[in-house]
Amino acid sequence: MITAVRKPLEEIMGFAAPYSRVLLLGCNECVTVCYAGGRKEVGILASALSMAFLKEGKKLDIVEQTLERQCDPEYVEEIAQTIDQYDAVFSMACGCGVQTVAGRYKDKPVFPMVNTMFMGASERQGVWAERCAGCGDCVLGRTGGVCPVARCSKRIFNGPCGGSTKGKCEIDPGVDCAWQLIWDRLKALGRTDLYSEIIPAKDWRSAKDGGPRRIVREDLLS
Ligand code: SF4
Ligand code: SF4
Repeated sequence: MITAVRKPLEEIMGFAAPYSRVLLLGCNECVTVCYAGGRKEVGILASALSMAFLKEGKKLDIVEQTLERQCDPEYVEEIAQTIDQYDAVFSMACGCGVQTVAGRYKDKPVFPMVNTMFMGASERQGVWAERCAGCGDCVLGRTGGVCPVARCSKRIFNGPCGGSTKGKCEIDPGVDCAWQLIWDRLKALGRTDLYSEIIPAKDWRSAKDGGPRRIVREDLLS
């Protein structure tokens, strides 16, 4: 999923300063799962903002709503009838959702309430870790299911580098060396032969380095 964390209240208050009525818009998908921008977090932020403004002797009218997905035009359309009631939209979705809302309602200011972080997985309650960088040409089949793009600090394809020490990465002793994890996993699978094969230099055009990407599925076009 896409992970995110809420922006500091002070930053959000700066966005709100010119406005008197805003739509605080949550999303039921990834940001709900990582407790950053779902219905519950919309309620928490609305209360915190209202109280902070009241303390300053000001009033901000906040209307709460949560869409199924903000990255999907079908759901973003649901606010078409009411959007004119608001001075601005405060989106609690990831950057994809914020841009979908802003793209649909071009004359309405749309502000991000969260910082979008990475594509990750839950390690345990309250902890998420980066697992995929969306490189567009997955090599997990050769690396024992451990991603060298997202999990190696240097994105090395034939590691480890000389900085790997006792299974940890040189950038931080608290970070596992991805190539140690790859080796351990291949060993457990009885596939150390894969480790001996040199992975060719990657064509990074399949990743974001090739510019903004799109997926076009001809079979789904109507
Ligand atoms: S190799 Fe690429 S697509 Fe596969 S998990 Fe890593 S970043 Fe994601
Ligand atoms: S120590 Fe391991 S994870 Fe860190 S940069 Fe080197 S190969 Fe990558």
